[in-house]
Amino acid sequence: MIELLQALPKVDWLLKDNDFSHCSPSILKNCIQTILNQKRQEILTSHSSSIQIQNIKQEILDLYNLKTHSTIRPLINATGVVLQTNLGRSLLHPKILEEIFPLLSNYNNLEYDISQGKRSERYIHITHLLKTLLSCEDALVVNNNASAVLLILNTFGKEKETIISRGELVEIGGSFRIPEVMKLSNTNLVEVGTTNKTHLSDYQNAITENTAIIMKAHQSNFKQLGFCANVSFDKLSVLAQEKGLIDYYDLGSGYMQGLQTDQEPSLFELCKHSPSLISFSGDKLFGGPQAGIIVGKSHLINKLKQNHLLRALRVDKFTILALEATLRAYISCEFEKIPTLAMLNTPLSSLKSKTQKLFALLEKIPHLNLCIKQIDSLAGGGSLPQTPFASYGILCYSPILKTSTLEKNLREGGLIARIVQDQICLDLRCIFEDDFQKISNLFAEILANHTKKDTNKHDKQ
Ligand SMILES: *Cc1c(COP(=O)(O)O)cnc(C)c1O
Repeated sequence: MIELLQALPKVDWLLKDNDFSHCSPSILKNCIQTILNQKRQEILTSHSSSIQIQNIKQEILDLYNLKTHSTIRPLINATGVVLQTNLGRSLLHPKILEEIFPLLSNYNNLEYDISQGKRSERYIHITHLLKTLLSCEDALVVNNNASAVLLILNTFGKEKETIISRGELVEIGGSFRIPEVMKLSNTNLVEVGTTNKTHLSDYQNAITENTAIIMKAHQSNFKQLGFCANVSFDKLSVLAQEKGLIDYYDLGSGYMQGLQTDQEPSLFELCKHSPSLISFSGDKLFGGPQAGIIVGKSHLINKLKQNHLLRALRVDKFTILALEATLRAYISCEFEKIPTLAMLNTPLSSLKSKTQKLFALLEKIPHLNLCIKQIDSLAGGGSLPQTPFASYGILCYSPILKTSTLEKNLREGGLIARIVQDQICLDLRCIFEDDFQKISNLFAEILANHTKKDTNKHDKQ
């Protein structure tokens, strides 16, 4: 046993080994010590009777790779859900990235007034375009919409009352709950109405001398049908402004324009009524980077800027640049540069021909049965709930592999798909044609591997 222990390679000797020349020494040392300790334990508990240096080196390398490999990778979204928070929400178009690349890799005037040679505000790059687009008085950008809600309620509602309908105390994916954020901001929540019906008089009757804000929240990913009623934001604005209160709409998705829908309130329409404050996400229907965008009255935005919380919720230059480029795409009506809108707008005929192209590739793969079907996709991200977008998809299954196993293999190969009626459903809405060959190779590889395993099994029997 002592001989075995003595035969273990020394740390310093391994550190100098050429096989590890690409490794960072401090991380490598850590991995060497871990593996050598394991080996020592194995020898002491008599689980090891010989020492193979090559195996030890391989184990060290495996551990090193495990600790240092990248955990994020591109995926193919075959779910048909355009805004998937788990899959990174809105995509940024390569053209947008091209525009911002020189600004990211060079110094720029993010917070610098060139003509005055003085410090300036990072927000002006965005506010100037938002004012042009929406005719709002002023704007501000924070890290995400949750931050925007927190900042607004904390600035104006702290130790005062904020009135909101019981039908809007919703929870949004990722455990964002309106009442919890209200609590965090230190505003006193005053619930009015009932789950299904809230009337203007409910708000009127709840106003006290302590009221600061009348808030409306988008119900996000849930929709009420049947015996229900709520008060439109423009009516709440009129009431609030008559009483000298702030009307605030947490709009969630932030739909600007570019879709054939009357299901989402458009920012253009809302801004026409000169609301006090509206906030929305940058990476939902708006189709930009993660951000919380606030638009509204100048004197209120100025107060938000004076809240020290803003420093903690500050956006970085990447967000500002990506947002600025997205806003310019809106101004020039280049909606194709906003993939979220482009995907939701893809005509059914294009989806059909895309589906046929992928079908032609998959058809050649042995052990795969498939058919084309008209299906529905969803916007996702708490936008346009229950609004189906007609799409085309491929339903497929393999007689030699359980659908759940096939799905797992596809997922691990980078393709995320739903299972519908015990078949894999590939919705073509969010799949790029550039990925067709990859998808086809992946199916072929999975099924070929499985056939191989099967024949191996039979050989052994
Ligand atoms: C999505 C959503 C939020 C949270 O926005 P994030 O940008 O994800 O922080 C807040 N309120 C509503 C109504 C939403 O739909």
